[in-house]
Amino acid sequence: MAEKSYKDLKSEVWDAGLCARCGACVAVCPADALSFSPGSPDHPSSSGYCKMENDGILCGACYRVCPRVEGGAVPSALLGDYLSVIAAKATFSVPGKQSGGAVTAILAYALDAGLIDAVVTVSEDHWTKKPFSAVITKREALVTQAGSRYNWWVPMLAALKEAVVVRKCRRVAVVAVPCAAEAVARMRASDFDLLAPYRKAVRLLIGLFCTESFDYGKLMEGKIRGELGIDPWEITRLDVKGKLEITMADGRVADIPLKDLQACIPAGCLRCTDFAAVAADISAGAVGSPQGYTTLLVRTPTGRGFVEGALVSGLLEAGGEVDLAKVESLATKKLARGRQG
Ligand SMILES: Cc1cc2nc3c(=O)[nH]c(=O)nc-3n(C[C@H](O)[C@H](O)[C@H](O)COP(=O)(O)OP(=O)(O)OC[C@H]3O[C@@H](n4cnc5c(N)ncnc54)[C@H](O)[C@@H]3O)c2cc1C
Ligand code: SF4
Ligand code: SF4
Repeated sequence: MAEKSYKDLKSEVWDAGLCARCGACVAVCPADALSFSPGSPDHPSSSGYCKMENDGILCGACYRVCPRVEGGAVPSALLGDYLSVIAAKATFSVPGKQSGGAVTAILAYALDAGLIDAVVTVSEDHWTKKPFSAVITKREALVTQAGSRYNWWVPMLAALKEAVVVRKCRRVAVVAVPCAAEAVARMRASDFDLLAPYRKAVRLLIGLFCTESFDYGKLMEGKIRGELGIDPWEITRLDVKGKLEITMADGRVADIPLKDLQACIPAGCLRCTDFAAVAADISAGAVGSPQGYTTLLVRTPTGRGFVEGALVSGLLEAGGEVDLAKVESLATKKLARGRQG
C-alpha cells in the first residue's frame, strides 16, 4: 500500500463527509493520537502527532483499516458470499434479545466452550440508554446486554484496543455493524506489522444487518426525551420496523415515523451501501425470518464452525424458512440510498 497517513484519511474521508464513525482508526493508532471530540463527533480528529508525519516511521495503520477508503474485498453479490442461511434462536432465556437471541447463543456457546476469551461489542447503560464499546467475558453479561443499540456513540471499536492491547486477549469475537465489520475484516486481512496483534486475536466476526443508526443526542435527548417526554430509563425496548417503536416498562408503546428521524442519521450512514455485513464470518438480522428467530447468513468456514457448534451444544436451535427476497429488498434500498449520497 502507498504510504498514507491520517492526513490522507482526513482529506479523503473526514473532510469528504464519508466517515462511518466506526472508530477503527482510533483503536489501531499506535500513538493514541486520534480521538473523537464530544463537540465534533462526525469524524475523529488528530492530536497533531503522527509516527509517519513526525518521525518518518512507516505506519498509516489508521488508513489501512478505514472502511471508507478503497481496498476492501468487493462483494460478488448484493448480500455477499455465504455458505448457508438459516433462521435460528437461542434455546435459553435472553429477555433483552432483539430477534431470536441467536447472536447471544452463539457467543455464549463460544465462551462456555473456551473457544473465545472475550467479546468486543456495543453495550449500553440501561439507565441512560447511552451505548459504549465494551469487552465482555462472561455469559451473564452477554445476556444482560443482548439487544440492538440503534443509538450511535463513538468510538465504537475502542474496546478492541482494550481487549487486544491492554488485556491481551488472544481469542476475541467481535460483534459489529457493517462499517465496523469491514474495518475489522481489513485488520484480519492486513499483513502490516502494526496490525498483527488484531489479525492474530480476532477469531470470530459477527456482523449485524444495518439500515442506519441514529445519533444518540439527536434521537434520545432530542426526539424521545425532548419531543415525546419519555425518559430513557422508562424504555425497555427500541425496535425499527418501518418506524421506530419505543416500548416502555409500564406497557405503553410510542412510535416515530422514520421520515421524522432523517435528521438523526449521521451523514456517514447516508453514504453507506452495505446492509448485510458482507465482510463478517456470520451476518445476523431480523428481516426474512419468522417472528422470534434471527436470520443468519453463514459466510465462512469459521462462521460455520461456530454455528454448528452452537447447534450441537443445544444453545442454538434452527427452525423456519428464511425469505431472502425480504433481505435483498432492504439491501437494494440501502445500496440505492448510499449511491445517491
Ligand atoms: C444499528 C443497527 C441497525 C440494524 N438494522 C437492521 C435492519 O435494518 N434490519 C434487520 O433485519 N436487522 C437490523 N439490525 C440487526 C438486528 O437488530 C439484530 O441485531 C439481529 O437480528 C440479531 O438479533 P439477535 O436477537 O440474534 O441478537 P441478540 O442476541 O439480541 O444480540 C445482539 C448482539 O449485538 C450487540 N450489539 C447491539 N448493538 C450493537 C451495535 N450497534 N454494534 C455492535 N454490536 C451491537 C449486542 O451487544 C449483542 O451482543 C440492526 C442492528 C443494529 C445495531
Ligand atoms: S470510517 Fe472509521 S476508520 Fe474511517 S475515518 Fe471514520 S472512524 Fe476512522
Ligand atoms: S448505516 Fe450502519 S453500517 Fe453503515 S455507516 Fe451507519 S452504522 Fe455503519
